[in-house]
Amino acid sequence: MTNIIDGKAISAQIKEEVKEKIEKLRQKGGKAALAVIQVGDDPASGVYVKNKKNACAYVGIASLSYELPKKTSEVELLELIDQLNRMEECNGILVQLPLPDHIDENKVIGAISPDKDVDGFHVQSAGALCTGQTGFIPCTPAGVIELLKRSGVEIEGKECVVVGRSNIVGKPMALLLLRENGTVTVAHSKTKNLKEICRRADILVVAIGKPKFINREYIKKGAVVIDVGIHRNEQNKLCGDVDFEDVKDLCDAITPVPGGVGPMTIAMLMQNCLQAAENAGLSDRKVLQS
Ligand code: NDP
Repeated sequence: MTNIIDGKAISAQIKEEVKEKIEKLRQKGGKAALAVIQVGDDPASGVYVKNKKNACAYVGIASLSYELPKKTSEVELLELIDQLNRMEECNGILVQLPLPDHIDENKVIGAISPDKDVDGFHVQSAGALCTGQTGFIPCTPAGVIELLKRSGVEIEGKECVVVGRSNIVGKPMALLLLRENGTVTVAHSKTKNLKEICRRADILVVAIGKPKFINREYIKKGAVVIDVGIHRNEQNKLCGDVDFEDVKDLCDAITPVPGGVGPMTIAMLMQNCLQAAENAGLSDRKVLQS
């Protein structure tokens, strides 16, 4: 029987764990606060921001909300980030992407202090992940690893294929699977023989951004399939990059869309915020001792 990996239940479990730890931090006099910056009024971004703030409220992390008009200049945004970097009561900074075209995303992400980079997009965080050092890990791929571990899927020694090589999903996903001792192949739009490569996978992670692209011709019997994609189909229903109904009987385990990877992204953001607050507490103590 195919195991349908329940991302909603696992993410709820993680949020409970974070909530307990935040409470312990609070009892010791610590606190956690996340600054959430949105530029413009893109409705999809608005929904993501609202969900992130709701999750913060649930686990006990204060959210500092900055809703800026679309015409905000790059300089103004960089100044705000500079202020937040120096603001002691703010442990994490999240800039909702995408930004309007006149603002350079890389410049903005690069301006966030790596200590507060809870999205894990700063080059220092990416470099730390790449070289096996400590740093924040992007939430979606970190969520995939948690899903696999908490569903009892062994990664070590497995053939892992990641389809997609974006900086926020595919590349960090590949590095995390490698860190877990998987044997990793990364495929992308220029890959030849994609079906053959995918059919080698014991663990197939799909982050392409094309609705129902992966059908049963790409799946090895008994594979674990993780679908990162999110789309709205013609009937306005959510679907992923994988054709769930077509492939599910072939898989040992598979994530549904919705209710698979999606909820994990926010749960891992909460975990990164907790980590940032704990790190800030540790550095406060170091300052007091010195
Ligand atoms: P990007 O568009 O940044 O990257 C897509 C990747 O897929 C690229 O590397 C591209 O290759 C590759 N690709 C595109 N077409 C093909 C193809 N025909 N065959 C093989 N590879 C292909 O997307 P993201 O990584 O940001 O997101 C991927 C999906 O995940 C989207 O549906 C997005 O909405 C979803 N997502 C979901 C999240 C969640 O919380 N669940 C969070 C983030 C994203 P190339 O590099 O050669 O162009």
